[in-house]
Amino acid sequence: MSIQTNLLKINSSIPNNVILVAVSKTKPNYMIEECYQVNQRHFGENKVQDLVDKYDALPKDIKWHFIGHLQTNKVKYIAPFVHLIHAVDSMKLLKEINKQALKNNRVINVLLQFHIAKEDSKFGLNKTSCDELLNSEIFPSLKNISIIGVMGMATFTDNENQVKSEFKNLVDYFNTLKNYPLIPAESFSEISMGMSGDYKLAIEEGSTMVRVGSSIFGSR
Ligand SMILES: *Cc1c(COP(=O)(O)O)cnc(C)c1O
Repeated sequence: MSIQTNLLKINSSIPNNVILVAVSKTKPNYMIEECYQVNQRHFGENKVQDLVDKYDALPKDIKWHFIGHLQTNKVKYIAPFVHLIHAVDSMKLLKEINKQALKNNRVINVLLQFHIAKEDSKFGLNKTSCDELLNSEIFPSLKNISIIGVMGMATFTDNENQVKSEFKNLVDYFNTLKNYPLIPAESFSEISMGMSGDYKLAIEEGSTMVRVGSSIFGSR
């Protein structure tokens, strides 16, 4: 099937309030343009250099999502234009995003990444590290970032019950943070969860943003 057919099929199967982020990492610009032609505007990348190159080459009304692990020293390259940074899991990174956002005279939207999978990963917050981050003295002074929700990746497994319970954990984190006084509840609205293999389940569990790559563009 063509990329456009894949995209339209997925789009018609998800509710209107769920944002489909087409994960175009490793894929060439012409494939992104094919999606753009059928009105896809949200795209996700996980390498800073690729994102910058694609931003330069492609239409400027594309909303670029950075979905991978972001190194502090590279924030400056995407700060002028990035739409949403999905995977913030440290104060160091949050501070740098704030600094670069200020330099660019804008507010950058971010999601806090939580570690929900059974798999070992260096990335993602838990309850304790999240509380530490939010309760730190400098957090209230970060005026150029806006935390608009949470993000997580479930374990790569066929066990639906496990994936489901991991998604539920992320939703629990979301609901807890929504009541946190330093996070403005009115702009805290996104739950980024679900990929090609599990986006349907993620939507059933309350996802507002799915990140789908291979089901649109083919395997990498
Ligand atoms: C690659 C990637 C995706 C998309 O994965 P697919 O299985 O190809 O849909 C989603 N989220 C993140 C963080 C990724 O790195």
